[in-house]
Amino acid sequence: MTRPSAIPQPAAAASQPFSFDGPAVAAALDVALAAEPCLGARLRSITNHIPGRVAFSTSLGIEDQAVFAAIATADLPFDVFTLDTGRHFPETLETLEATEARYGRRIRITFPVAAEVEALVARDGIMGFRNAIENRKACCDIRKVRPLNTALAGANGWITGLRRDQSAGRAHVPFAEWDAAQGLIKLNPIADWSLATLEAYIKDNAVPINALHRQGFPSIGCQPCTRAIRPGEDIRAGRWWWENEDGKECGLHNRPKHKDADA
Ligand code: SF4
Repeated sequence: MTRPSAIPQPAAAASQPFSFDGPAVAAALDVALAAEPCLGARLRSITNHIPGRVAFSTSLGIEDQAVFAAIATADLPFDVFTLDTGRHFPETLETLEATEARYGRRIRITFPVAAEVEALVARDGIMGFRNAIENRKACCDIRKVRPLNTALAGANGWITGLRRDQSAGRAHVPFAEWDAAQGLIKLNPIADWSLATLEAYIKDNAVPINALHRQGFPSIGCQPCTRAIRPGEDIRAGRWWWENEDGKECGLHNRPKHKDADA
């Protein structure tokens, strides 16, 4: 791989605190990743140009399985973690175990703060997220967004499996951008992958995927908030299907400027 020369180099490579020009590195990486077609090379480029901890948050969905396969195969030193909301499908947890076994690498699991979940359920009920959008956002905030913020604290980079053709709201996802709210570079190394490209990668590399993907679930979240989609529906139509299309995100990828604000 040819290392993009335009990317500013880190001031320090092995010890904290790091001093690097995050916005400049993000802008240069956005160009460099676009020019590199190989996922493994894209990930190595991230390793080479971002100092300190770079985290990869995996939902264990098909996109993230592809990214994790590339990370694990190349034994890249990213901090891989997943958010256990307490409301996952059993198939998702089976995917987690199968993935660890397949690649011989542990995936860090983060959990919400128990007291916060207890207070939420006491206020709204065990299925209260279906009664009001505000309730749903509060649930996503406590079970997902806050644990994500905690897991990302101190990281200089955050890798995701977002793709532009997943939904209209993700149509302009860049390869890399400066996330001022978290003070890190958000990286989307398969932003330009089509579904066909993704499925070919999964097949060619025998990557384990959630069994629900073959049962009409292209996008898998918490069990009570995810249904199978019908032919012709948007691939995220099965997420929070009782809500309007506008704003159907859990807050993980459109987080507010202040981490404690409503997701
Ligand atoms: S997806 Fe549903 S159950 Fe999961 S955190 Fe959000 S509202 Fe709660």
